[in-house]
Amino acid sequence: MAHCGKNYILLQSFFMALIEPIIFTDMDGSLLDHDTYSHVDADELLAWLRNKQIPVIPVTSKTRAEVLVLREQLNNHHPFIVENGAAIFSPVDYFKHGIRDIVEHDGYQLKEFVASRAHWQSILDNAGTHLNEAFISFAQAGIEGVVEMTGLAINEARLASQREFGEPLKWLGTEEQFDAFSQYVVTQGGQLLHGGRFVHLSGCCDKGLALRWLLSEYQQHYVGKNIVSIALGDSHNDTAMLEAADYAIVIRSPAHDYPSLNNNAYQHVYKTKQQGPRGWVEGVTHVLNHLGYKD
Ligand SMILES: [Mg+2]
Repeated sequence: MAHCGKNYILLQSFFMALIEPIIFTDMDGSLLDHDTYSHVDADELLAWLRNKQIPVIPVTSKTRAEVLVLREQLNNHHPFIVENGAAIFSPVDYFKHGIRDIVEHDGYQLKEFVASRAHWQSILDNAGTHLNEAFISFAQAGIEGVVEMTGLAINEARLASQREFGEPLKWLGTEEQFDAFSQYVVTQGGQLLHGGRFVHLSGCCDKGLALRWLLSEYQQHYVGKNIVSIALGDSHNDTAMLEAADYAIVIRSPAHDYPSLNNNAYQHVYKTKQQGPRGWVEGVTHVLNHLGYKD
């Protein structure tokens, strides 16, 4: 029977060669610790994934300026999704085929799902004088104001303020004013996304839409291979991304419950016991083991 075992191993190796896992990951509270923003607990696995050429795609509410700093720290050279799915930046020449519907922008190929920040700012300007006192935007607050509102260091506030596809607002008005404002935003083709401390005004996009778009580019990139998408996130703004992947890894948060998913029967969902980057390692290891990819 020894040769049967050998055949099994050969078959398994052949099968493995056809699988291409792609990891889409939220940053804060997922790959980065909720409190310290450290990724050190995931560094060993990240190095292993880099060695295996498994892409790790940042998918975050952060700005491009913030992600560029993080990518440097993480030694990550893959495409990334910013501002809650508003846009994808892909290094020029990363994909060898011609990507659909992109523009060249600062050395990246850019796919935008919504209009630029200036568009959303003009919508704020036209919201009506009755809402003048109801909110303060990042642009109105300036860097010093953002430092005050967020508690970020000035350099971090500068990066967080470089939004390109929407405008964060601190809401100061009443609930009635908010309802009126929401209706107005919808009539303008926009949406409001509740973050922890801020409301984000932008267009209709989410992390799931951006994941699917990028995944279809990878399908052309890895012709003949079986792409397995793995998504990791800890919050409700990750649900669309988690639901769109073959494997959803829901990271335990110290701040709130697991987000609930409307997953289908074919999707694998794994909820981590550990938090932040340790949960990240737990989840990715679990899925790669399940795929027979990692001991
Ligand atoms: Mg998060």
